Amino acid sequence: MNNEIVSLYESFNKDGLALFTNKLIWFINKHKQIFSKFVFEDTLNEIKKFDAADFYLGTSEDNLEEVISSYSKQMKNATEERICYNVIHLIWDITTFMTQEVCPSCQDENLKIASSVDKTKIYKVCDNCLFTLLDNIFIDRPQEMIPATKEQVNDTEIR
Ligand SMILES: [Zn+2]
Repeated sequence: MNNEIVSLYESFNKDGLALFTNKLIWFINKHKQIFSKFVFEDTLNEIKKFDAADFYLGTSEDNLEEVISSYSKQMKNATEERICYNVIHLIWDITTFMTQEVCPSCQDENLKIASSVDKTKIYKVCDNCLFTLLDNIFIDRPQEMIPATKEQVNDTEIR
């Protein structure tokens, strides 16, 4: 598993973001037994069905090239648990849409748009301070969230 994820991460530059994201999703499907030990079942079931084309990719301010290159070094000797969390975290960072709205709580990062696992609720969330809004009301950050799709983001931005 280690060598596989390291070479996947190393392929980041030449593959482009959409193909890279789909490779991460294929990786999860291939190792779904291992991922199921560490990731909530409903969340995992949704992520397994993801297709890069359904998301706005790479909208966060992170320098993905730098981030992924440092992850790839960390993955050489990482445990299965670490690899699973890292891959899920990376998918979140690539596919979760970042708005132009600065977090009103920490004012240090822009809010992102996330969805409940059953896709009935849309949240605005801050990854920095965990501030979370549901229908403009402050709530505790839910345990399970998935990135909002393009369609969900478009609906939110129109409102
Ligand atoms: Zn914040």
